[in-house]
Amino acid sequence: MSLLDIDGLAVAYRTPRGDIQAVREVSLSIAAGETVAIVGESGSGKSTTVHAIVRLLPAAARVSAGAVHFEGRDLVAASDRELRAVRGRRIGFVPQDPTVSLNPVVRIGDQVAEVLRVHGLADRRTAAVRAVEALERAGLPDAAVRARQYPHELSGGMRQRVLIAIALVGDPALLIADEPTSALDVTVQRQILDHLDALKRERGSSLLLITHDLGVAADRADRIVVMTDGRIVEQGTPSEVLGSPRHPYTRRLIAAAPSLNVDRARDAVAPGTGPALRGGLVTDAETPPSTEDRAPGSTSSRATAAPSRPTETASPVLEVDDLVKEFVLPGGR
Ligand code: ATP
Ligand code: MG
Repeated sequence: MSLLDIDGLAVAYRTPRGDIQAVREVSLSIAAGETVAIVGESGSGKSTTVHAIVRLLPAAARVSAGAVHFEGRDLVAASDRELRAVRGRRIGFVPQDPTVSLNPVVRIGDQVAEVLRVHGLADRRTAAVRAVEALERAGLPDAAVRARQYPHELSGGMRQRVLIAIALVGDPALLIADEPTSALDVTVQRQILDHLDALKRERGSSLLLITHDLGVAADRADRIVVMTDGRIVEQGTPSEVLGSPRHPYTRRLIAAAPSLNVDRARDAVAPGTGPALRGGLVTDAETPPSTEDRAPGSTSSRATAAPSRPTETASPVLEVDDLVKEFVLPGGR
């Protein structure tokens, strides 16, 4: 059994204009240590899928079919008590919009420490120390000083790191990051993704990464899952999905991504001669790696991408209180 198994998941939103079927028959598994990227255009159901996994759907949403098993436990059917034991502890979640996800009147160090406290993982003093360590691991500069500041005193990139620290401080087996970089500039995006990669390797945990950006997915994921209109239409290794896409939607997505040039990468270099590019960012002056060698998961077979343009941040499904109370502070404030 995988770490996470989603089987036939369907989610609908009730609206005054009728039901919106946001997720349809989604089945997906994530193994221990694996990084899976879900890609797809805005509105394709990526956030709804992950909110269903962590049961953070708004009241208007209903899981109408399917099951989500995590470490053998059915999260759809789990009691609130069982869920509290999982969220923030076994599953860390970095939400899509950092601006609404931190409590504006609580110092950031306390917000990180609170996760350890509510899960009974540390006493107050130890939690404060581990909070600063988690902020450091998430790449926040001057973490000890910053820990005493409030969210409004931090930049957007720093706030994103605080959210990552909150998601990671309990050492979860699975980290779900919903567009963790879309509101950030390209350099900060790369730093954040590098940190997630490093933390994942250190801990052997799994990562479910949601992104608009095919270049990010190509570069970071063991497996890419393509969603459109609430369905998964294709999944495979980055070289399979981007090098020889089978579904017309995937082909359109690739064609619409000016930053991604898989053909150029495949054609330009003889097998084995391409440099092993870290970060997957290529400029015209650099030689892209070969994609002839199609060993699944091998870095040399990955598609390459130029820096992508930042995408807009979609309106959040969750309100501050939902997130902080229900997820980050499962015991309530
Ligand atoms: P983005 O890339 O913009 O974040 P997404 O792939 O995460 O998009 P979702 O937020 O999951 O997409 O939305 C899927 C569908 O569900 C869309 O049609 C969206 O309009 C609808 N939807 C999302 N949240 C709600 C809500 N709270 N009420 C009604 N419909 C919603
Ligand atoms: Mg989304």
